[in-house]
Amino acid sequence: MYLLYLDESGTQSDARHFVLAGVAIHEHSVYWATEQLNRLQEQYFPLADGEGVQFHATLLRGNPSHPIAGPLGSLVPATRHDILAQLYEIVQGMYGRLFAVVIEKAGLAGADDPYERALEEILYRFDRFLSRMHRDNNRRNKGLVVIADSQDRNKLERASQQFLTGGTRRGKVHNIQDIPFFTRSRNSRPLQIADLVANTVYGRYEHGYATQFDRLLPKFDQIRNGPVHGLVHLPAEPAPCYQPCCRP
Ligand SMILES: [Zn+2]
Repeated sequence: MYLLYLDESGTQSDARHFVLAGVAIHEHSVYWATEQLNRLQEQYFPLADGEGVQFHATLLRGNPSHPIAGPLGSLVPATRHDILAQLYEIVQGMYGRLFAVVIEKAGLAGADDPYERALEEILYRFDRFLSRMHRDNNRRNKGLVVIADSQDRNKLERASQQFLTGGTRRGKVHNIQDIPFFTRSRNSRPLQIADLVANTVYGRYEHGYATQFDRLLPKFDQIRNGPVHGLVHLPAEPAPCYQPCCRP
C-alpha cells in the first residue's frame, strides 16, 4: 500500500496561490521517514520528551517580525536553517514520490473551492501513479490518503466521497478505496514532510524562491522521459508558463 500524506499552503486571503502538496510513500518506508525525523529531533533537542518537537517549515524559516512559539523558537536562525537543510536532504534521499497542485485563485470560477479542486486533481494523479506502477512493474498497490487536520475537514470528506464514487473531472479513481483520513501534523512525521513540500512549492509560485524547490523537483512523480505528472499548475490565464509544471 502507498500512503499519500498531504498538507496545504496559501489559505490566507492575501495569497494569490493555493497549494496542496505532499509525499507518497510505500507503507514499508513510513518507518524510515519517521525515524529520520526522530533522529533530527534527538540531535537538536536531546532533552525533548512527551509529544516531541514538530518540524514546521514556516517556523523553521522564521519571520523577523514574529517571535517563534514553542521549542523551535529557542534556536538561533542559523540552527533552524541547518535543520531545514537536513529536512531537504531527507526528502531527497527518501524512497517516495512528491505531488503538488498549485492553483491561482483568481482563475477559479466563483463557486469553486480551491481546496476541493486541488484534492480532486491530486486524488486523480495519485490514482494514476498507482495504476502506472501496476502496469509497468506489475506491482499492485492500493492507496490511502492522510491529510493534516483542517477546518475544512467535513467539506473535504464529502467532496472525496463524491470523487471516489462518481469519479473526477479527469476520470475515475480505481486504487483509492476509502476517503482521506485527517490527523494533526504533530502526530505524524510524514505529515511534517508534506508541510515542507507544500511550503516549498508555495514559496516558488507565490514568491519565486527557486533554490529549494529545484532540489525537490526530481522527486515529483514523472512518467519516464515524459511530463512531470505529479506537479500540476492551474494558472488563472492561459498565459505561457515555462516551468516544468506546464511543459508539454
Ligand atoms: Zn505552470
